[in-house]
Amino acid sequence: MISKNEIDHYISNYDLKNIQIGTICSHSALQIFLGAKQEGFKTFGICLRKKQFVYEAFPLAKPDNFMLIDDYEEILDSTLLRKMIDNNVIIIPHGSFVEYIGSKSLENTFFIPIFGNRKTLEWEGSRKLQRLWLEKAGLKLPVVYNNPSEIDDKVFVKFSGAKGGKGFFTANSEKEFYEKLNKKIKKGILRKEDSTNPFIQEFVSGVRYYPHYFYSQFKNLGLSVREGFLEFLSMDKRVEPIDESYRGLPDSLEDFYDYTVTGNQSIIVRESLLSDVLEMGVKTVDTSINLFPPGILGPFSLETIYHPNKGFTVFEVSARIVAGTNLYPHGSPYSFYTFKKPISMGRRIAIEIKEAIRKKALERVVS
Ligand code: AMP
Repeated sequence: MISKNEIDHYISNYDLKNIQIGTICSHSALQIFLGAKQEGFKTFGICLRKKQFVYEAFPLAKPDNFMLIDDYEEILDSTLLRKMIDNNVIIIPHGSFVEYIGSKSLENTFFIPIFGNRKTLEWEGSRKLQRLWLEKAGLKLPVVYNNPSEIDDKVFVKFSGAKGGKGFFTANSEKEFYEKLNKKIKKGILRKEDSTNPFIQEFVSGVRYYPHYFYSQFKNLGLSVREGFLEFLSMDKRVEPIDESYRGLPDSLEDFYDYTVTGNQSIIVRESLLSDVLEMGVKTVDTSINLFPPGILGPFSLETIYHPNKGFTVFEVSARIVAGTNLYPHGSPYSFYTFKKPISMGRRIAIEIKEAIRKKALERVVS
């Protein structure tokens, strides 16, 4: 396990005038790079050689320096890791970053300072720990079924290895569960090894909202929570083929029964629901500080479904920047109520790092 002391040692030797903000060129990298540049940082993109043209295509958001690789496994090569340290790089972890590097390597091999609390990624990565966190926070969660034989109502079935909702399905009985599961394996939509550990939840009906929060150590701009401040920056709704299933009407086309996330849409909630949205964020931060101090730092998001009869149900927490924030490189309808300038989540991260440098407290925001 890479210790906080080790990271603090590296960061104490960084040239504070030449810090570079880095990440893997994927997920929310364009937004992260643009935000960092807006705050005067140089940027460092770890990029698959075959994807470089994508980032070259956006002159204002492309990284100043590319570290080109052919395979994500190369990131853990000691020469490349050394190069990041020599370039004073602070890594911003995003969804694909965790996926490509793997949580075990992040814990044990990847010794580059990352923005936020490294322990958070472990709590996010395990369904068991995540549930414990959200339960202790007192949030309303979907009922969990421990075995397909318990299914007595409409359920939603997920798999750990399946990425971004791929292969997820609904079932109303144990029989339907096995029928659908076997069909998906046969069609190659699910791999047999991914299907062995299904996560069966109550199917929650309602409207999906994904609020994006930022917990700051320094800026007194949001709600006061313990020693820090919680800002609510924006909100999105994911786009999945199931959302467009009406297009096959009057027939029901099976390919539309697919929950794979393909994009994001902008959304806001009724103002009367903002109290719930803020309270959920406060509880998530507060509990994280008890469970894995210093708790969650920086950006995070809750995946929620709202129904007027049941309120908000939270079915997941993303403990880092989410791709839904890509909708707002120049600020969202909510960020305008907090900042005088257009602030994206990427830029907000850069502001926090800048403030930490100014206060000579960089070790408080990296691990
Ligand atoms: P996830 O990978 O957990 O974010 O889930 C992907 C998608 O599946 C979500 O965006 C929702 O559309 C849907 N989903 C996940 N959990 C549930 C649930 N318990 N009830 C209904 N829909 C769900």
